[in-house]
Amino acid sequence: MMLLAELRQQVFNYARQMATDGLAHGSQGNISALDRATGLVAITPSAADYATMTPEDIVVVDQEGAIVEGRWKPTIETPLHTLFYRRRGDVGAVMHCHAPYASGFAAALRPIPLVLAEAAACIGHEVPVTPFMPSGTAAFAELMLDTIGAGSAAVMGQHGIVACGTDLRRAFATTIAVEDTARAYMFARQLGVDPAPLPSEVCADLHSWWLNKYQRTAAKE
Ligand SMILES: [Zn+2]
Repeated sequence: MMLLAELRQQVFNYARQMATDGLAHGSQGNISALDRATGLVAITPSAADYATMTPEDIVVVDQEGAIVEGRWKPTIETPLHTLFYRRRGDVGAVMHCHAPYASGFAAALRPIPLVLAEAAACIGHEVPVTPFMPSGTAAFAELMLDTIGAGSAAVMGQHGIVACGTDLRRAFATTIAVEDTARAYMFARQLGVDPAPLPSEVCADLHSWWLNKYQRTAAKE
């Protein structure tokens, strides 16, 4: 009997989706989710190609990153994922990827302004950027957590992005929102416009609506 079978399947599904959506290629990027009942974390393995990955390849670690069950080492970014769970009680899923338009901001070491309402609702704040630092270390994890604060996404300078959420669905939606707003900003620049970000209080209001009300509702009670 595989530990956290359902959660590993979900992490696997989102890892595949990340690759299908062109947010990461080969074995780039990583995703994890917290099992609140046990405090354990299901996380993608290191250097495993999404094309040949199976749910059994997803690793179960504790919140210090020690392997509890799994046949592979967890991602090199495990210290980043586990620090989120130790530091942020609201976070149930973390995702890191190399989304192409957002990576343009990473290359430029620029924060991503919220220029679209839906992205603002998902993310809630301008997406801050860190300076470059080699990833996979405790120091890098501290830098990312300090930069993201109580927020939901950050640009990893000259590397990619990280997003978190209460669950995998929200962490993934936030990743897409970061990429959408980065792309829209660049297209607007191609129109010769320097688009103004939405006011921060509007972003905060939209985000609180999204956190509290954005969920599927059955048509009939
Ligand atoms: Zn990366």
